Amino acid sequence: MTESEKVLMAANSLEQSFPIRFPNGYQVEGLIFWCTACNTPLPLSAVHGQVGSLIEEVVDITAIGSCTCGEISHYRIRLRNDGSFSFLDKGSWVNKEVKENTGLFSFVKRVFYLLKLRIYCFRLNRALKRLQKELKRIQTHNHPPMNAGKSGGA
Ligand SMILES: [Zn+2]
Repeated sequence: MTESEKVLMAANSLEQSFPIRFPNGYQVEGLIFWCTACNTPLPLSAVHGQVGSLIEEVVDITAIGSCTCGEISHYRIRLRNDGSFSFLDKGSWVNKEVKENTGLFSFVKRVFYLLKLRIYCFRLNRALKRLQKELKRIQTHNHPPMNAGKSGGA
């Protein structure tokens, strides 16, 4: 990890920065950050960095995200209060203009993805809980008297 990566990693996760509200009423509920190596969507809690605004029309995001695959992705995103945005892709800025249909579509897609992610996490939690329960059952089954009633130790 480079020094600037360490600094960004030490910053708050972007979870706390959303929704972003512009003075003109435009609001960004959330963004999906994708791992640049394996394309997995990263939860906002895994994306750390700065969200800043020098002028009220623009919000700049500088962040890095750490993926379970080990990749650290860098993000530079500029959101504007007209709904358009730009992002830095391999050293050059890509501009996305707003077209009403595209805006709505990407919004729906975004919500869909968030929902999908949430359901996935939920399922994962359920599976983990089941697994833990199962492990506990096997362990207590193997050593019934020794573990009973004793919770002290390490
Ligand atoms: Zn990844």
